[in-house]
Amino acid sequence: MKARRFRSNATSPGIAIGTAYHLQSQGAAFVRYWIGNSDVKEEIDRLKNSLQKSKEQLDQISAKMCRFQGHDQIKIIESHRMFLQDDMLVSTTIQHIQESKINAEWALDKTLAHLKLSFLNVDEEYFRERQQDIDYVGRRIMDNLMGTPALSLSDLPKGEMILIVHDLSPAEVANLPKDRVKGFIMEGGGETSHTAIISRALEIPAVFSLKGIFDSITDGETIILDGMKGLIVASPTKKEKEQYITVQENYAALERILMQDIHLPAETKDGYRISIEGNMELLEEIPSLIDHGAEGIGLYRTEYLFLDRLDEPTEDEQFDNYTEVLERLSPKPVTIRTIDLGGDKMPLSHAYDLQTNPALGLRGIRLCLKERPLFKTQLRAILRASVHGHPRILIPMISSVDEIRTVKKIIGEIKEELTEQNIKFKSDIPLGIMIEVPSAVFLAPELAMEVDFFSIGTNDLIQYGLAIDRINEHVAEMYNPFHPAVLRMIKSTVDAAKKAGIKISLCGELAGDPLAITLMVGMELDSLSMNPVSIPKVKKVLRSITKVQTEKLTEYVLTLKTADDIVKYIKKQTKHILPGDIKKLHIVDGQI
Ligand code: PEP
Ligand code: MG
Repeated sequence: MKARRFRSNATSPGIAIGTAYHLQSQGAAFVRYWIGNSDVKEEIDRLKNSLQKSKEQLDQISAKMCRFQGHDQIKIIESHRMFLQDDMLVSTTIQHIQESKINAEWALDKTLAHLKLSFLNVDEEYFRERQQDIDYVGRRIMDNLMGTPALSLSDLPKGEMILIVHDLSPAEVANLPKDRVKGFIMEGGGETSHTAIISRALEIPAVFSLKGIFDSITDGETIILDGMKGLIVASPTKKEKEQYITVQENYAALERILMQDIHLPAETKDGYRISIEGNMELLEEIPSLIDHGAEGIGLYRTEYLFLDRLDEPTEDEQFDNYTEVLERLSPKPVTIRTIDLGGDKMPLSHAYDLQTNPALGLRGIRLCLKERPLFKTQLRAILRASVHGHPRILIPMISSVDEIRTVKKIIGEIKEELTEQNIKFKSDIPLGIMIEVPSAVFLAPELAMEVDFFSIGTNDLIQYGLAIDRINEHVAEMYNPFHPAVLRMIKSTVDAAKKAGIKISLCGELAGDPLAITLMVGMELDSLSMNPVSIPKVKKVLRSITKVQTEKLTEYVLTLKTADDIVKYIKKQTKHILPGDIKKLHIVDGQI
């Protein structure tokens, strides 16, 4: 096949070479086959089991929703449950199996198609919605029939492959077998989607937002994936492949060079210290955090404990998890962020999924304040674990003073409860909030009076400040952390924190961008928390600049009017500042 090139944005760095393998997303391809008379009963049993399993899942969702959702949503789930018992659905599918002698998936697909067709020409909103219900319930039954998850990661073939997918959830990426999956290409997603974040954390090279890629590549083709440039080469020429093998070796060499300095202090040439910490989602990331020289954990996204499962982790399960993180990191600090479910991190139950606009809906602290038992269980687990290390508590998505005051009241109540029960906890755990919603930027002076530290979440601050969905590939190009409005929001938050005398950190993906380090030092952030793999590069740049240089640069950048001008200026100035050996590595260009 002829060599073809596809370009997008850089998503998860690294070079991967492997064979293309398409992985179907939820509800997609299933195998159609004829069955013999003796298999009919087995196929009907499989269908019945999957209907029963779907019913149990919907029961669980419905029970959860009763606690905090309105009646309308419960009614929808109820109707889905009823649909599972619908005679048309069940007996027609069984009839297809018996009469046409086809497997259960095929029979189900035929029934669903027929049901949808019957609504097709009815020009009424109600019936169009019923079609969606059929899709939704049908997909659930089909997934259960095929053995959820629909993405059969366990069935991947042998050999080193590059996966081509429509979409993967963060939990699915976390489950990828890294020995075989060398990288993946996705049609959807954005650079700061949680799927992208987890790919970087697990060091799996990836390129996102490549519309149409699924049908442009054939299974078995050789693929070169360049995660730094956001470039895909399908069926490369022999020469191209050889060149890329050299690039891959250079990349590995660069990593080794950067790793040599990892234990040197994170300070500028003139001795300005900034703490470099790591972001984590899963316990498996701890060795990488330690190896890359993180001075602590600046962001532990605990919601990952809640993903990819139907039940909620118990207080004891959470206690064990937090204790393990605190003990393994001790005496370094661990910033435990309370659950930020919602947005692009939905629990498998999809209980919170029914909002039309999840990013602006019940997410983060809003969900926790509605679901008090869920929140209290987590806080109790954190407080109980606190004696095992040096925790900080971080609250996501705060948008008003009332919210943080309520949180403080709840923490106070839990402390009283624990004292009464003679359970030990640390009484002086620093409490902080994420600054990731524009209202929090405006209220930063008032919010600073309530807490011990701020952590700026640029991933969401960009999303909410620039009105750009962080997981929408259609606007991915506009999502720019160097937008002057974003930099000014950061600056004004830092100023408010400094004035109030509280610590200020930044934990969005921007923290790990070597191009941003000069600005972060210039604005005098106390710490940066990033994907561990970014730490060596950021440290290298930090150790090559002076505080004085960054102040001048920052002052000028804050007067510029466009992101393009800002990026150009920083690139030019940083190149001018950086010593020759680093310039050769082009680390500020994201290239080798
Ligand atoms: C952020 O919004 O910048 C952040 C760090 O939090 P998350 O990416 O988990 O939303
Ligand atoms: Mg966020």
